[in-house]
Amino acid sequence: MNKIGIIGGTFNPIHNGHILLANYCKEKLNLNKIIFIPTYTPPHKSDKDLVSEVHRLNMCSIAVQNFEDYLVSDIEIKRKGKSYTYETLTNLKEIYPDDSLYFITGADMFLTLEKWKNPNVIFDKAIIAAVPRNRMDFEVLNSHYINFLKPLGATACIFDEPVLSVSSTFIRENIDNYDLIESLIDRNVYEYITKNNLYRK
Ligand code: ATP
Ligand code: MG
Repeated sequence: MNKIGIIGGTFNPIHNGHILLANYCKEKLNLNKIIFIPTYTPPHKSDKDLVSEVHRLNMCSIAVQNFEDYLVSDIEIKRKGKSYTYETLTNLKEIYPDDSLYFITGADMFLTLEKWKNPNVIFDKAIIAAVPRNRMDFEVLNSHYINFLKPLGATACIFDEPVLSVSSTFIRENIDNYDLIESLIDRNVYEYITKNNLYRK
């Protein structure tokens, strides 16, 4: 039996916070592999800055190329339509029936999970791992789990230290200031962005 971490997101673009989130959960939870799954059309984002799913998928592949246990899946992109996590986890459980799935989220996503479509299916298929995005998050995450998610059947591991305070929004807003974002994004992903003229106003 393997333990597989799943990280869903827009990855617009993928940054070192996503990679450190994966590294941290892999080590703490003893995961065998991690699958990054870029969304097709995110259900809760109508973002004019959202670049095509092909670009987002390519950037994810570039960012994980030196990690042998990290994969990128186009399962949501191929499915098209709105990307629902309950459907993705149902599909993955069919592909990996004997493995345990860990759905890895940052604090912001964890705090909305009960509002996602069919949260009971999500909680049935996967254990949830939650990582703070800043120092204040731990207590909030814990009480959200106890008050909202546990009563819906969730099992969660909540960690108490943030990995790296960065967001894709910050990267997009500072795309022309490489000195500022150099330590926050993979060099080859940055080159891909430049070559394809992404996120420039
Ligand atoms: P945006 O600013 O566009 O929303 P983002 O940085 O939040 O981008 P997403 O693709 O929305 O990236 O996030 C995918 C998943 O990774 C989510 O569960 C999110 O909470 C988590 N995540 C993103 N950045 C971090 C970070 N620095 N630390 C911990 N979790 C993170
Ligand atoms: Mg986000």
